[in-house]
Amino acid sequence: MLSRLSRNMLTKVNVARSYSTFAGNTPIQTADPEIFDLIRKEKDRQFNGLELIASENFTSRAVMDALGSCFTNKYAEGLPGARYYGGNEVVDVLENTTIKRALETFGLDPAEWGVNVQPYSGSTANFAAYTGLLKPHDRIMGLDLPSGGHLTHGYQTDKKKISATSIFFESMPYQVNETGYIDYDRMEYTAGLFRPKLIIAGASAYPREWDYERMRKIADKHGAFLLCDMSHISGLVAGKQAISPFQYCDVVTTTTHKTLRGPRAGLIFFRKSKKKDAKGNLIDDDLENRINFAVFPSCQGGPHENTIAGIAVALKEAATPDFHEYIKQVRKNSAAMGEALKSRGYSLVTGGTDNHLVLWDLRPQGITGSKIEKACDEAHITVNKNAVYGDTNAIAPGGVRLGAPALTSRGLKEQDFIQIVDFLDRVVQISIAIQAKVGKKMPDFQKAIQDNSELKALRQEVAAFSKQFNMPGSPEL
Ligand code: PLP
Repeated sequence: MLSRLSRNMLTKVNVARSYSTFAGNTPIQTADPEIFDLIRKEKDRQFNGLELIASENFTSRAVMDALGSCFTNKYAEGLPGARYYGGNEVVDVLENTTIKRALETFGLDPAEWGVNVQPYSGSTANFAAYTGLLKPHDRIMGLDLPSGGHLTHGYQTDKKKISATSIFFESMPYQVNETGYIDYDRMEYTAGLFRPKLIIAGASAYPREWDYERMRKIADKHGAFLLCDMSHISGLVAGKQAISPFQYCDVVTTTTHKTLRGPRAGLIFFRKSKKKDAKGNLIDDDLENRINFAVFPSCQGGPHENTIAGIAVALKEAATPDFHEYIKQVRKNSAAMGEALKSRGYSLVTGGTDNHLVLWDLRPQGITGSKIEKACDEAHITVNKNAVYGDTNAIAPGGVRLGAPALTSRGLKEQDFIQIVDFLDRVVQISIAIQAKVGKKMPDFQKAIQDNSELKALRQEVAAFSKQFNMPGSPEL
C-alpha cells in the first residue's frame, strides 16, 4: 500500500509529466519556427503545384501519424522474438503485424513466402537482397539506366562504376530496343555469354508490362536467381492492375512510397518454398535466412520502427476497396494523359502505357527533357527529365517521365489530366519560342524562363487549378 504522501508525490509527478511545460513537449511551431516555416513552404509548394513525378505520391495522415510516433525512439536490432535489445515486446507485435499485412496485401501464402520489413529504403533493400543472394564479383544483369533501369540494378559508364552494385558485383545490362520495349531476345543471347547468377526485372521508367515468364526461363538456363524490383508498380500489383511477379521470382523487392503510397522505406519478399533444379530435384536455397541475415547484421543496424508502423498503416490502406479503385484510376489517368499528348502530335516511347507512367519523347520538337523540366518548374508543374532510346547525353536527355499516382491521390480524373496536358503543351510551346530567341545553351534558357511573363501567368493558372483538389496528410504539417 502506498502512503498518502507518496501517492500525492506520484500524482504531482504524473501531472508534471503529462503537460507541455516540459521542453520536450513543445510543438515544432514554437520549438523551431525556422523548420516549421520550411514545412509550411513545402506544403504550399505541394498543394499549389502539379506533382507529376512518377515515383512520388501523397501519403495519408494516418501514415504520417505513425511516422511521427514514439516508435522512432526504439532500438530493435534483430527480428521478432530474437532481439539484441530489451523492451521490444510491443515492437515485436508491430513487426509481425506488418509482415502479416505485407503477405496478405500481395496475396501470398506464408508457407511459400516471407518478407523482411526492415530495409530503410529501396536502394538498401536491393543491396541487401544482392548481399544475401550473391558472392562479391558474381555476375548480374539488370535493365540499363538509360533504358529505364534503376542505378541499383548495376549502373556503370565507360569511365566509372557508378552504383555500389557495379562496384561489388560484375554488371552486364540488358536494354530496350528502338521500339522502346525490352529486347528479350538480346537479353537471352547476352545471358548465354555472360552466365549471370542474378537477373533483375523491374524499372524506374518503363511504361509496359514485364515478361517474367520469359525471364524465368532465361534465368533457369543458367541456374540464376530471378529478382523483381517492383518498386514502381507495387501499388498496381497490390491492386491487381499489373501482372504479379511472385509466380516467377525468387525474391521481390519494393519501395513502399511510390504507387503503394506508404512512407519512404523498402521491403524484401523471399521465396520460402524449395526450388526445383533442371532435373526436377528440390533444392533448399534457404532464402529466408540469407535475406534476413543480409538486412541485419550485414547491411543495416537498428530498424526504423516508426517507419515500419507507417508501412503497416499503408498496407492496411492498400488492402481496401478504396485503394483498388484508386489504383485503377491511376492507370486510367495515365492512359488519358498519354492519349491527350498523342492527340496533340507528341510522341510517346512505345506509343503508350500499360501502367502509371508515360515516357514523353521530345526529340521531334527539338527541345531537351532537361529544358522542359526547368520550364515546368517555373509553371509550378513538377516533372523529371528522362533518357529515351538512343540518347547519349544523360545530363540533357530527350525525354520527360510523367506519372499519375500523386495527383490521382488528390482525386484528379481523366478530364483533369487532359487539362494538365494542355498546361504541358503550353510549357513546350513557350520553351520552343524561348529557345529560338536565346539559343540552345542551358544557362541562357534558364535565365530567359525566369523572366518570362507567359510562364508566370501559367503558374497562376496552374496554382488556381491545383488548389481545387484536396491534399492527403495532416492539414498542419
Ligand atoms: N528501385 C527502383 C525501381 C526505383 O525506381 C527506385 C527509386 O526511385 C529505387 C529502387 C530506390 O529507392 P530509394 O530511393 O528509396 O532508395
